[in-house]
Amino acid sequence: MRGRLTGGMLSGSVVLVALGIGLGSAEAQNTLPWAETAVELRDRALADNIAYEIVEGLTLFGPRLAGTDADHRAAAWGAERMRGLGFENVRIEEFPLLVWTRGEERGEIVSPYPQPLVVTMLGGSPATPLEGVEAEAVLFETWQELLDAPEGSLTGRIAVVLQPTPRTQTGSGYGSVSQIRFQGPAEAEARGAVAFLMRSLGTHDRRSANTGSTRMGVGIPSFAMSPPDAEQLVRVARHGPVRLRLVGLPPDPVQGHTQNVIGELVGRERPDEVIVIGGHIDSWDVSPGALDDAAGIGITTAAAKLIAELPVRPRRTIRVVWWGAEEVSQPEGGLAGARHYAETQDELGQIPDHVIASESDFGAGLIFSLNLPPGMADTELAREAMRILAPLGIHFDSAPALSGGPDVIPLVRLGVPAFRLNQDGTDYFDYHHTPDDTIERIDPARLDQNVAAWAALLWLIADSDIDFRR
Ligand SMILES: [Zn+2]
Repeated sequence: MRGRLTGGMLSGSVVLVALGIGLGSAEAQNTLPWAETAVELRDRALADNIAYEIVEGLTLFGPRLAGTDADHRAAAWGAERMRGLGFENVRIEEFPLLVWTRGEERGEIVSPYPQPLVVTMLGGSPATPLEGVEAEAVLFETWQELLDAPEGSLTGRIAVVLQPTPRTQTGSGYGSVSQIRFQGPAEAEARGAVAFLMRSLGTHDRRSANTGSTRMGVGIPSFAMSPPDAEQLVRVARHGPVRLRLVGLPPDPVQGHTQNVIGELVGRERPDEVIVIGGHIDSWDVSPGALDDAAGIGITTAAAKLIAELPVRPRRTIRVVWWGAEEVSQPEGGLAGARHYAETQDELGQIPDHVIASESDFGAGLIFSLNLPPGMADTELAREAMRILAPLGIHFDSAPALSGGPDVIPLVRLGVPAFRLNQDGTDYFDYHHTPDDTIERIDPARLDQNVAAWAALLWLIADSDIDFRR
């Protein structure tokens, strides 16, 4: 037990009673009261364990780096789990992937004060020679300073970017510095650097380095160091030029495959109209990825499962996708699973049937606001949604949702509308892409609040005929 209210699994008839629905007539089974059902789903979610159970099941596989055995085994388990929860048309859709894996890695200050550094290689980085790269460090306080450095000014040196990650509720602080990881190695290489080292994109002060992908195909080895190591480097540099040695020995990437896992609740009236939700199944290789993104998979799958337990399906189809390969940047462009899904649907001519889409990929903090597609602010749906979500501490953000999470980007580019249930990510980057992204970081009660919001909103959208696609 985890010290929480546990309602246990409700049997079918108990669900009906809980929903105030009689079993007597066929008519009753076909007409659930629209908004009242959303209220019931919300309240049942707060007493249900399934999201946490899914997070626990997925994290049992350990790190799920895309294309590895753990990733494949987790996907097979996921498909089985979805079938067990009552999903239909459950399938695994495989696609090829260049698989990068980590090798031995270490860093050190060679002079003037020799000492080890806590570093991690950025995903997709090429290897150093066996003995590593040793060179003088050039320290940049900010990303802009590196961009301002003239061509050739880093020849034979190691470029070091020290800019910290601001702590914000929405993740905008991370957004403001994430290009250091994506573009930093290429910009350093263009100026002649032989290696790239950055302060981790993390808001913590532990001796733990945050990994994450950088652009594939850059020629210089690239690393992140823990925030305290970045601070130490600044202090050491006050006493003279700093020489660093960095060792990172990932094997050459190999051709492999990974997959999306998909399950559906087929709509009772408009089965062709699809609402797509989900999270990503892959994680970084340094942790079991509880927050990133077992939580998102648990939240969205649990929300759909609560709807699966209702006596009738909603009007429209709900499709839950466990996207593959969200974290890694290969092949060029990244988001390989999301792109595979969107391209497959496009080839089938089914993109126009996608009514709306959204992903949960920001941990397990409380949801605090809702964004709907443009033009939805003054509608019955928005009013009903807020009547039901406001007691959960959620407000309506009248700014239109222009994005629905990373794996929804390819769909949005094809014109699919998105919604967003925004989570409090104030402490998300304390753990993101570090060894500490474990199930201990997840508070079951907060997870349940997420499921409650998703389940209620999902029902309102799936059982309506409101068209967001204008
Ligand atoms: Zn993620």
